Amino acid sequence: MSTPEAKTPLLEVRDLVKHFPIRKSLFGKARARVHAVDGISLDIAPGETLGLVGESGCGKSTAGKVILRLIEPTSGSIRLEGRDITALGAGDMLAVRRQMQVVFQDPYSSLNPRMPAGEIVGEPFINYGIGGASERRDRVAALFRKVGLRPEQMARYPHEFSGGQRQRLGIARALALGPKLIIGDEPVSALDVSVQAQVVNLLMDLQAELGLSYLFIAHDLAVVEHISHRVAVMYLGKIVEIAPRRSLFGQPQHPYTEALLESVPATRPGLRRERKTLTGDVPSPIAPPSGCRFHTRCPYAIPRCSQEEPLLHAVGEGHQVACHLR
Ligand code: SF4
Repeated sequence: MSTPEAKTPLLEVRDLVKHFPIRKSLFGKARARVHAVDGISLDIAPGETLGLVGESGCGKSTAGKVILRLIEPTSGSIRLEGRDITALGAGDMLAVRRQMQVVFQDPYSSLNPRMPAGEIVGEPFINYGIGGASERRDRVAALFRKVGLRPEQMARYPHEFSGGQRQRLGIARALALGPKLIIGDEPVSALDVSVQAQVVNLLMDLQAELGLSYLFIAHDLAVVEHISHRVAVMYLGKIVEIAPRRSLFGQPQHPYTEALLESVPATRPGLRRERKTLTGDVPSPIAPPSGCRFHTRCPYAIPRCSQEEPLLHAVGEGHQVACHLR
């Protein structure tokens, strides 16, 4: 899979921060803050997939929701096609939402069980006042075909579909308004392995056909390696490494990335990976460690690591890492 040529980014995120205040009472003063996302910057080009990986609780899902403006950022900026959408009001965001859609992990909980599948997929057309009843039906039928479902299945209810088919419904609904960017929040994690491959291949086919960009949030590195052009690794609210897929999986530079890769079995013949589990618990995001946030678990830590925060810097073509030793 070749990386899309460098173009003006579709999405530009700069210094994005999301802290959640912890209060004793509803209107009380914040006693502490959860540092869920702590100053991340990333770009996604048209037609590009950026994988966003990290352990559970690293802030990757929160980052996706903040980019979508489903939750408000504490600070930083989000630009879509050059337009700053960080502080747009609800009316202006309505138009922006046509361009940015989401596919969630659990298709069952994101599909209304009391609505026929055709109505679920066609709901965005009603919300945006697009077409009359028969045009909407034709559009929904076309979306069903596009995601590998049959238009005859439009009258069925979500429980009558398999897990993979339900995720296809979620994708069809996300495609309805012709978005340019889809944020997948663990979109295949709840599916069986064989079904995961089918849904990932569907997403890749749709990208090739429609020129979509994806922010693909996942903890499964094998899936991320398969679908992504570039990959960003998050640890405790920070991006610690970002690189083209080949460099990240072939020459990981950050000790945390190394540890993540070592913790999964090799999926390619000839690539031997020693199975090691990342040791130690992820520190609390309420009081992240000083300096490098990974220093409490890093086997290479030196005294400087607990005192000074390493900044992302270039170590190769498009490859950046935040580590004092690289
Ligand atoms: Fe490890 Fe230090 Fe590098 Fe952090 S800066 S990853 S603690 S060596």
